[in-house]
Amino acid sequence: MAEEKTLDDLFLDTLKDIYYAEKQIVKNLPKMAKAATSPELKAGFEQHAEETQGQIERLEQVFELIGKPARAKTCEAILGILEEGKEIMSDYKGTVALDAGLVASAQAVEHYEIARYGTLKTWAQQLGLTEAVALLDATLTQEIATDKKLSQVATTTANRKAA
Ligand code: FE
Ligand code: FE
Ligand code: FE
Repeated sequence: MAEEKTLDDLFLDTLKDIYYAEKQIVKNLPKMAKAATSPELKAGFEQHAEETQGQIERLEQVFELIGKPARAKTCEAILGILEEGKEIMSDYKGTVALDAGLVASAQAVEHYEIARYGTLKTWAQQLGLTEAVALLDATLTQEIATDKKLSQVATTTANRKAA
C-alpha cells in the first residue's frame, strides 16, 4: 500500500513548487523590463522584480515556521510559461505588438502565482498556521495588484498600440 500522505505533505510540496517558481520569475523580470517598450510597463516590471525578492523572503519565513529547510522543487508549469514569454520576446522584438505580448505573458505568470498562493493560504488556514496565512496573503495581494496593473497597461496602451 502507498505511504499515507496528508495535507502537511501537500502544503510542503506546493511551497517548494512556488519557491522554485519565484526564483525563476525573479531572474526573468529584469529581462521583461529590458524588453518592454513602454516606460510604464518597464517600471512595472522593475517594481515587481523588487516585490518578488520580498516574496521569496516571505516563503523562507513560511519554511521556517513549519520547521523545514527552504528547498525548491522543479515546477514544469512555470518553466513552460516563461518559455512562452521568451518566444514572444524574440518573435515580436521591434514590433508594435511586443508590449501587448509581454503583458499577456506576464499575466500568465501572475495567474499561476495567484492559483498557488490562493491554495496555499487556504491550506495554511486549515492547518492552523496563522502566521503563514498572513505571509501568504501579503504575497497574494501583491500578485493580484500586479495582475490588475497589467490589465490596465493592456487596455490603456499596449493593445491599442498593437491594433
Ligand atoms: Fe511572485
Ligand atoms: Fe508548479
Ligand atoms: Fe508575481
